[in-house]
Amino acid sequence: MAGRAVDATEKALYNFGPGLLTQNYWDKAANKGKGGWLPRLQAAAGPHKDKSTDPHAAGRALDIILFANDPTERDFADRIVQVFLAQRVAMGWIAVIYNGREWNRAGLEFPRSGDAVNRHVTHIHIEWAKAGVGVDNFASDLEDALYNEFSAGNISSGNYAVG
Ligand SMILES: [Zn+2]
Repeated sequence: MAGRAVDATEKALYNFGPGLLTQNYWDKAANKGKGGWLPRLQAAAGPHKDKSTDPHAAGRALDIILFANDPTERDFADRIVQVFLAQRVAMGWIAVIYNGREWNRAGLEFPRSGDAVNRHVTHIHIEWAKAGVGVDNFASDLEDALYNEFSAGNISSGNYAVG
C-alpha cells in the first residue's frame, strides 16, 4: 500500500495533470515479454524490483510514465518536474529523477548518467522518505498548480482543445 503523499500525488496528476496520464500505454516488456497495456501512473513495484530495498515496494515512490524520446511526452514531463520543484517544500519529496537529471530534497539538480534504466528515460520517479510519505496536506496546492499548468485556458498546454 502506498503512503499518503504517493496517493495524493497520483490523484492530483490523474485529475489535473495532462490527460495522457489517464490512459494506458503499451509496455512491450510486460507479461514476461508478451507485452501489455499498463497505467501511466505506477506506485507499485514492478516484478524486476528488489522488494527488500525498493522504495515502491515500501509505498514511498511513484513512477509517471512519459517517454523522453517523444517530444510531447517529454514536454509534459519537464513541466511536471517544474511543478514538483515549485511545490518541493510542501510536498517534502527527497528525490525526483527524469531523463538524465536528478533533483535532491534541496531542489539541487545533478546529472544522472549510466544506462537508460538508470537515467530514467521512460518515466519520472518521485520518492519520499519514511518521515515525509505520511503527509498529504500539500494535495490542494499541488492540484491548483497542475490545473494552472495543464488545464484549459493555458493555450500552451496542448492538453485540451482550446476554442
Ligand atoms: Zn520509480
